[in-house]
Amino acid sequence: MIEMKEVYKTYPNGVTAANGINVFIDQGEFVYVVGPSGAGKSTFIKMMYREEKPTKGTITVNNINLSKLKNSKVPLLRRNIGMVFQDFKLLETLTVYENVAFAMEVVEEQPNVIKKRVMETLELVGLKHKARMLPTELSGGEQQRVAIARSIVNSPKVVIADEPTGNLDPETSWGIMKIFEEINLRGTTVVMATHNKDIVNNLTHRVIAIESGKIVRDEQKGGYGYES
Ligand code: ADP
Repeated sequence: MIEMKEVYKTYPNGVTAANGINVFIDQGEFVYVVGPSGAGKSTFIKMMYREEKPTKGTITVNNINLSKLKNSKVPLLRRNIGMVFQDFKLLETLTVYENVAFAMEVVEEQPNVIKKRVMETLELVGLKHKARMLPTELSGGEQQRVAIARSIVNSPKVVIADEPTGNLDPETSWGIMKIFEEINLRGTTVVMATHNKDIVNNLTHRVIAIESGKIVRDEQKGGYGYES
């Protein structure tokens, strides 16, 4: 569950990127966040995992009030949030297996639990057979699969993705979307900022459109609504 009430964000340079946002996203929803570049999509998403703090307003994620959350408790919040980025953000010197296992080691899981869960998750994303490879030995689509495996290995309630298919070709993007679809079918909330018109129009879900820091459209089974 994610809720924003009267949320405003003005950066130190005076740019207002969130301008009175009110939204409620229920557990298990799949939500696309669309809008032109500079509209405030990333800011909207970053506030959900406390990468940015709002200037004003209340944000609640998984029953945690982020305004009241001490910086020291932010890692605890992120245990229940998976994050996927356009540029994958994998650790280049670690293998596929190690990249995913690392997310469990930092939360001090038992080694036998880690091994089992990492292999199950790599199987889900179709990369069990590449567990020993380094990210540099993989295609972009495969690297994004590793990043997704890492984001879900601790079974978070929410996965937040900022342009996850932004660097991928259309066919690879569809493969990645199938995985997000599967994760969502298992009950995980998915919030995804995207410019991928084809995906938004064909794999329909709730669409939240942001322009100039405001929600200008919020539709169940919505379309992309922009030219590109
Ligand atoms: P989008 O993801 O829709 O492209 P962003 O949330 O990245 O939009 O940006 C919204 C506005 O806030 C833009 O005008 C951008 O330049 C500005 N902005 C984003 N991050 C920062 C920052 N760290 N400092 C100052 N301005 C920022």
